[in-house]
Amino acid sequence: MRHASRAREFTMPRLTIINPATGAPIDEVKADDAGSVAAKAGAARAAQPRWAATPMTERLDAIRRFRAALVAEVDTLATTLTREVGKPITQSRSELSGLLPRIDFFLDQAEAAVRDEHVFDGGGMHEQIGHVPLGVVGNISAWNYPYFVGCNVIVPALLTGNAVLYKPSEYATLTGLQIARLLHGAGVPSDAMQALVGGGEVGAALLAQHIDGLFFTGSHATGMRIANELAPRLVKLQLELGGKDPTYVRADADARTAARSLADGAMYNTGQSCCSVERIYVHESLHDAFVEYFLAAVAGFKVGDPMDPSTYIGAITRAAQVDVLDAQVADALAKGAVLRCGGQRLSGPGHWYAPTVFTGVNHGMELMREETFGPIIGIQSVRGDDEAVALMNDSRYGLTAGVYTRDEARARELLARVNAGSVYWNCCDRVSPRLPWSGCGDSGIGLTLSTHGIRIFTRPKAWHLREP
Ligand code: NAD
Repeated sequence: MRHASRAREFTMPRLTIINPATGAPIDEVKADDAGSVAAKAGAARAAQPRWAATPMTERLDAIRRFRAALVAEVDTLATTLTREVGKPITQSRSELSGLLPRIDFFLDQAEAAVRDEHVFDGGGMHEQIGHVPLGVVGNISAWNYPYFVGCNVIVPALLTGNAVLYKPSEYATLTGLQIARLLHGAGVPSDAMQALVGGGEVGAALLAQHIDGLFFTGSHATGMRIANELAPRLVKLQLELGGKDPTYVRADADARTAARSLADGAMYNTGQSCCSVERIYVHESLHDAFVEYFLAAVAGFKVGDPMDPSTYIGAITRAAQVDVLDAQVADALAKGAVLRCGGQRLSGPGHWYAPTVFTGVNHGMELMREETFGPIIGIQSVRGDDEAVALMNDSRYGLTAGVYTRDEARARELLARVNAGSVYWNCCDRVSPRLPWSGCGDSGIGLTLSTHGIRIFTRPKAWHLREP
């Protein structure tokens, strides 16, 4: 037996972790294969009932200890994140500090969210709603905010009594392994929360297991593959996908304030956020002033070593994305867009793209239709509110949308007409633990965060109880 497992260990695949800012390998970790994924899924299935039977207070205590460990190890965790995804170090630290209020929200709300509801009592009849853990849930995750997107699922799923099979992105594996290590150290049983290491093939192997729910964050293309794969088995499925997030700057907005805010919204995390501002529509009366302020803000963004605290634009995490960025730039130029800055990849080592701003864009260009996921933005001049709303809705995606204006009533009216899961007035690129995070159209189905994002890890059970 010993020999067999040692031989197996020897033949297990390995995953090389590359620093996208340098192109250099930084680590090599053992990866999973179909056999180890099946074994982990079996162990999770066996462990789940005991974890579900663990009192909520103990589950809450474990997550409190996890939170404390994140605080204690923030320097190492931020460095690991920056080294494996190329995120500027200040933004890695912000992701970790931003995770704490999310965890606090779950700690505050979990117990009440899944408490039994007594909905009727009368004539000897009692009705109540219970909230039962789904069982074993899979979480296939993205790399761009691995702490946020991972913990949006893992924390409430564990608090509500599920076992979790967590497949971090192959581009954020070390961070995924840190999350698992810290949870185990905090007292979550190792079989109830397991990390699966590897790329798409390991995600596919997870789909083949007996799971009760699959919570995915990633691209529309992969989401569709997963939806097709799971459809015949009626596994509860959530897909948090990409966006082409628009913002409209009205004639009455302050051009300077809006430009600074939106430059940050478009370029933060090197534009690699699902809710990065991806399209900007500016009223023609404000357009030129807005563009000048926007260009000035972008010129102030320092591109460089992600470990340098003054860096604002880091590396492009996935090498293949640089080709997507090049193609969108070439398409925009061929169709007459005006390049105001950037427009090309930067020399290596590693993968880099210059912050890029186009004006004179239109919806015939890929740049205004398909997710860019990089530091490139198109700014289009519009004649008024109706044209802006029509353009904002001219997209297959529907994740976030925003309006900058002094007029709250008008903002509310316009945002009510926009198809998006989240809408913003005078702000952008923002997520709150108290509000549901969801998309419509090709941005996905389901939600995370808010009290809804706790209950989704349970199924309601209806109790009809008649007194004898
Ligand atoms: P991706 O689709 O390439 O990969 C996501 C995950 O799916 C990875 O873990 C990958 O290994 C896995 N995977 C790949 N092929 C698979 C298969 N056949 N079966 C099962 N799993 C498979 O996406 P990405 O590059 O990691 O993330 C970027 C995308 O994620 C962008 O589109 C971004 O907008 C989106 N995103 C959305 C949200 C949101 O909340 N809506 C948040 C973050 C990122």
